[in-house]
Amino acid sequence: MKTLCIYCGSSAGRNDAFREHAANLGRLLAARGIGVVYGGASVGLMGAVADAALSAGGRVTGVIPSALLDRELSHGQLTELHVVASMHERKRLMADLSDGFIALPGGLGTLEELFEILTWAQLGFHGKPVGVLNVADYYTALLTFLDEAVSAGFVRPEYRGLLLDATDAPTLLERFQAFAPPARKRWLSADET
Ligand code: AMP
Repeated sequence: MKTLCIYCGSSAGRNDAFREHAANLGRLLAARGIGVVYGGASVGLMGAVADAALSAGGRVTGVIPSALLDRELSHGQLTELHVVASMHERKRLMADLSDGFIALPGGLGTLEELFEILTWAQLGFHGKPVGVLNVADYYTALLTFLDEAVSAGFVRPEYRGLLLDATDAPTLLERFQAFAPPARKRWLSADET
């Protein structure tokens, strides 16, 4: 794993633990020589990850649509900043540049990015690890909901297994190292045996 994509809030959230874990993740990746790809903003948890990784000597690549340059206050100190034309291009490039995907706490944008990359894994478009860092139980209800979606017959257990999780970054990285995508020839619906 040379580069990991971090999806996270453009807000910092109300619990200091969110910002602390974002900064810890940035520092950990820098210390391990793993580059960060993220949305290129200086605000919220996005800024916290980037600042911490850069301060620790890490590589940080931002990918931001031109329409969001002002709103998300693009980070001025990045190793590299790609300004792209659309949100679709942003997500495509972030995915192409990365060997795995971590969601920290975040809002609708973070959730959309997480579920898009997860569904691309389900379809077999990539075989890279995807995980959530479950800081202060932020993602517990979501993980429980996904288990319920399996019980209800809408998500196959092996696709549910595509979403890794941990409450601390070193454990999540260990799970990423051990991850092997399910072998299959094509995507299967939850009804198929
Ligand atoms: P949020 O988690 O809502 O604070 O947003 C985090 C990041 O996701 C920000 O950089 C947003 O620009 C981005 N974002 C917001 N909406 C979308 C979307 N529909 N698709 C992809 N990224 C988005």
